[in-house]
Amino acid sequence: MRSLVLIGHGSHLNGESAAAVYRYAEMIRARGLYDEVVEGYWKEEPSLRQVLKTTASTDVTVIPMFISEGYFTETVIPREMGLGHQGPVPPEGVARVLGGRTVRYTLPYGVHPSMSDVILARAHEALPDSSPEDTALIVLGHGTTRNENSNKIVYQNAEVLRQSGQFASVHALFLDEDPKVGTWPEMVKAPRVVVVPFFASEGWHTLETIPEDMGLEGAVTTFTDNPHGQQTVYYAKPVGTHSAVADVILHLAEEAAGASTSDGDTERVHGAAWSAFMDRARQGLRFGEVLVQPESGMFELRHALDEGKPGHELQTLVTPEGVRDFTRRDEGGHHRPVHTLRNMPRGWRAVMGEADLVRAVQYLYPAVIEETYAQSCHTLRPTPWATTARRQTGIYARVQKATPEQLEEVAADVCGGCLRTRLWAGEKLPQTFFDGVPGAIPCAEACTFLVAEVREEVAGKRGGGAS
Ligand code: SF4
Repeated sequence: MRSLVLIGHGSHLNGESAAAVYRYAEMIRARGLYDEVVEGYWKEEPSLRQVLKTTASTDVTVIPMFISEGYFTETVIPREMGLGHQGPVPPEGVARVLGGRTVRYTLPYGVHPSMSDVILARAHEALPDSSPEDTALIVLGHGTTRNENSNKIVYQNAEVLRQSGQFASVHALFLDEDPKVGTWPEMVKAPRVVVVPFFASEGWHTLETIPEDMGLEGAVTTFTDNPHGQQTVYYAKPVGTHSAVADVILHLAEEAAGASTSDGDTERVHGAAWSAFMDRARQGLRFGEVLVQPESGMFELRHALDEGKPGHELQTLVTPEGVRDFTRRDEGGHHRPVHTLRNMPRGWRAVMGEADLVRAVQYLYPAVIEETYAQSCHTLRPTPWATTARRQTGIYARVQKATPEQLEEVAADVCGGCLRTRLWAGEKLPQTFFDGVPGAIPCAEACTFLVAEVREEVAGKRGGGAS
C-alpha cells in the first residue's frame, strides 16, 4: 500500500489557493497508481502538523507543490512535518521513518528537469507553429534578491531549451531582478516572441504585472516600433497550471522511491480509527455539525441542523469532491480554512457508499477522526502554546512575544467559534463523539489560523484578519 501526499501553501483568506493541489490530486487519483492521494497545507487543513496522521499506509511520499526551492520547501514544511531536516533538500530527497511510516520528502515539482517539457508545451499552445528561424522564447521567472534559488531554475530551463535548438533565442527574464521583463524589446530580436511565465498559478502577477511590464494587451500583441522592428508577442499560461505537471509529480515520486520495490502496509492506528468510525456510522452518528445515517447499504450525510428535512429541500451531492466544494465556504460565501469552526453551511445532503463516505468525511473534517480516536485512546499528545510559538520562524517568530493575556484574548475570539477543545491550553476532554458527545473534538495544537491572528495582535494590527 502506498500514499502520495501533495503539500500546498493554502490560504486563510482565499479559497482558490488550494484549488491547483486539489486538481492535481484528482488527476493522479484517477490514474490509480497510488492507494491514496492526500492533500496537506500550510494554511489550511489537514495542516502540515496533521497530514501524516491522515495517511492510511506506512509508505508515504511527500511532494511539495512549489515552483522553486526556498523558505517553505527547505524550512517550513520539513520543520512542521517533523522530518528532522532543515536546509536544501538533496536531489535524492530526504527519507525518514516517523511513527512507523517510511516518509520520503522530495524536491518541489518546479525544479524537476522535465519542467522544460512543460515550458515547451505552454509555448506550443501559445504559438503552435513556432520556428527556430523567427521565434524567440522568454522564460519568465519571479526572481528575488533574497532567494537565489528561485532564479536558478529559470536559468537552467532556459539553457536546456536553448540547447534544444527549437528557438532563434531563449531568454531568462524576471519580474523582481535583473534582467527585468521590461527590458525585453532591447534584448529580443526575433519578430515572434513566446513568453512563458514560470509561475505556479494564474494570479496577480500573470494577469496584471507581467502584461503591464511588457506592454501586452492580450494573448497576442503586435508592437510596430520596437528597437528591432515589428514584433508580435504570444503570451502563454503559467507552467504550474498545465496538466503535464501531474506527470512531473509522478516522476518525482518514482525517483524518490528509487530501487525500492516493496510497498508499505496499512497503518495500524489509522486503520483502527476509521474502523471505529465506520462502526459508529453504521449505527447512525452525529459528530461535529454533521449527521451520518445508514440508508439501504449506503450512507447519508447532512448538516445536523437539517435533520428531518425532506431530501427534495436539500441539494443532493454524490461525490466526496462535491461535499468538499459545497462546504469550503460558509453561508456568507467566506472561505473556511478551519473546518471545525461552527460555520458549516446547511442545505445539502450526500448519499454515498463506504469508500466515498470516508473521503467525504476527510474533506469535511480533516484529521478529526484520527485525532479524536487518539484522544479516546488517551494517546493524543498536546503541544503547549510555548512550544508552538518557539517553533515559529520568519514573520511568525513575533508570536513568541505574545503575553498570556493577548493569547487568551485572541483565542477567546477565534477558538470560541470552534468545536475543538483546546488541550494545548490545558482544557480537558474526557469524552468525544466516539462516546456519543457530538461536539467533543480535541485540539492538540494551536492551528496556523490562530497563530496568524496572534501575530496580528502582537503587531497591533488585529481586526484586518489573517492572511
Ligand atoms: Fe480551533 Fe482554536 Fe484549535 Fe484553531 S487553535 S483548531 S481555532 S480550537
